[in-house]
Amino acid sequence: MNTFSELGLEPRLVDALTDLGIVKPTQIQQEAIPILLDSMQDFIGLAQTGTGKTAAFGLPLLQAVNEDSNTCQAVVLAPTRELAQQIAEQLKNFSKNKPKLKVEVVFGGAAITNQIKALKAKPQVVVATPGRLVDLINRKVISMKALDYVVLDEADEMLNMGFKEELNKILADTPAGKTTWLFSAT
Ligand code: AMP
Repeated sequence: MNTFSELGLEPRLVDALTDLGIVKPTQIQQEAIPILLDSMQDFIGLAQTGTGKTAAFGLPLLQAVNEDSNTCQAVVLAPTRELAQQIAEQLKNFSKNKPKLKVEVVFGGAAITNQIKALKAKPQVVVATPGRLVDLINRKVISMKALDYVVLDEADEMLNMGFKEELNKILADTPAGKTTWLFSAT
């Protein structure tokens, strides 16, 4: 069993994990973190909720993002508002020792004005539900043009919920050279 340091995670992230009581990587973290840290390749992970999959993709993402740039570099898409909020909460906790790194969350069923304001703070990482992200792209509040990473969390669920058209629109707006990480339970 490797520690998070041995998997290649930087000290600022390892220290934040230790403060959260997270010291022993789960199986998906053991398998995914070294690969995701090491390459710009696309990746498919099979993992259920509760296996630590958010950290499996979130930690490499937080390590890869350039905190000195204020372009949106990574988008994490999730099927529901609850999941999007949970992911954002975890990413904020994991990145607490990287104060210049901003994570914001946008989702449907809530006022868009506050979300527009949040995006004006230029977060490098945005967690979103697909419909609301398309709305914000159409309003030109956020651009996908400089994205390095797209994470599709619970991709199977997003398709089951009928988000195919929104996903196609979002992905069509992203650069061809981006890296895509797809996580699915089935
Ligand atoms: P997830 O499967 O990503 O929804 O994570 C479920 C919960 O487990 C979250 O509260 C995480 O913060 C927590 N967690 C993630 N990785 C670990 C780990 N290696 N050890 C203990 N708890 C963890």
